[in-house]
Amino acid sequence: MALELPVAPKVGMVSLGCPKALVDSERILTRLRADGYTMSPDYEGADVVLVNTCGFLDSAKEESLAAIGEAIAENGQVIVTGCMGNEAEAIRARFPEVLAVTGAHQYEAVVEAVHQAAPPELGPYLDLIPQAADDRGVKLTPRHYSYLKISEGCNHSCAFCIIPQLRGKLASRRIDAVLREAEKLVASGTRELLVISQDTSAYGVDIGHEPRQFHGREVRAHMTDLARELGGLRAPDGVRPWVRLHYVYPYPHVDAVIPLMADGLLTPYLDIPFQHASPGVLRAMKRPANEAKVLDRLRKWREICPDIAVRSSFVVGFPGETEADFQYLLDWLDEAQLDRVGAFRFEPVEGATANHLPGAVPEEVKEERYARIMEKTEAISAAKLAAKVGRVLPVIIDDVGEPDEDGDIGATGRSQADAPEIDGAVYLRQVDPGLVSGSIVNVLIEDADAHDLYGVVTPANNA
Ligand code: SF4
Repeated sequence: MALELPVAPKVGMVSLGCPKALVDSERILTRLRADGYTMSPDYEGADVVLVNTCGFLDSAKEESLAAIGEAIAENGQVIVTGCMGNEAEAIRARFPEVLAVTGAHQYEAVVEAVHQAAPPELGPYLDLIPQAADDRGVKLTPRHYSYLKISEGCNHSCAFCIIPQLRGKLASRRIDAVLREAEKLVASGTRELLVISQDTSAYGVDIGHEPRQFHGREVRAHMTDLARELGGLRAPDGVRPWVRLHYVYPYPHVDAVIPLMADGLLTPYLDIPFQHASPGVLRAMKRPANEAKVLDRLRKWREICPDIAVRSSFVVGFPGETEADFQYLLDWLDEAQLDRVGAFRFEPVEGATANHLPGAVPEEVKEERYARIMEKTEAISAAKLAAKVGRVLPVIIDDVGEPDEDGDIGATGRSQADAPEIDGAVYLRQVDPGLVSGSIVNVLIEDADAHDLYGVVTPANNA
């Protein structure tokens, strides 16, 4: 049976108040955009309206209350946030119909309220952000990393995908707007930017790579310029945030970002959704940038930046995939030595052209191929991680635990080869009690398994 065709919910936003409130609004919209919401410029088209209020002066409170009243009259589905949210009782007394009231800087709570009022449409073929399987995807991004969405839609027509029907053709955001958003995120605590879109390497194609002024420089809406500018950002304490590129198709110009990784401007990590290796299956899938020289390019990228981690996903059991095609994929993986791999069994999605292709692969064959690809990629991953034992690597801290009975505190972090939620972790023992999420520390790797690393913080810096 085909999966149902979802529609992206729309959010309206009324933002009042000071620059800090605006940063909150940006953060909220950044996250909602990444969750697949689209923004509505008017009340009419919105499924839910957010009012970010100001409560600094009485006149500002009045303005905020008037804005809430207007949003309720015009739309009805209203969530209140911002400084006046600290006076939730007064707001609820005057407007009992508001769906939720959250205080200033509680952007996680706002995002959750939006998820409840207008649930995001999630599915393995739609999400750009990895979601927990057990909670309808209402998974909140910690403040130390942020997804930065650079475009919407896609110009391709992969046979298994309905994104172009759902989200339309590629529509890139202005480069200056993207960079301003990134700058604000970093200024407000983001230590890792995760650049997402349906096709990051195509960024700007639809707007002729239109240049804009940013801090007196001309910057094009192009992946290379974007990468270089993001690589130049600094947190207020001088720390360079990690910048990770997701959903990059291996077009020729991708080669230009590898030296930026070697120079430490970009996180040495590329997420390239290859989906298959067999030329016949790739043709049937109508995949973009389907070219034979990918293995050569991977080799060259590793020569320039030996630490580059390449992540990819693959579909097994696509209609018409023969045992020879599948074996080709396994052999290709042996050569490609990808660091991180996700595999999916093909599933028809309502509206996708692949549903009508001949040669459906029986479920049991899909299962068997899935097991084989997982076995292969786990063995590759285990060997690659084992080779890191004894090295000192930079690790970003995601979570610091409570002391155990001996007073030891553990922490969970990620190396530069690990994107949040989808890749592995680095488990740390005996960390300093002052360690906080978002810190970037040097870690001596002591052990490894098929997915994760284990180590201890070290002052040494020979990463
Ligand atoms: S590149 Fe293909 S899979 Fe990705 S969004 Fe576009 S059509 Fe879908």
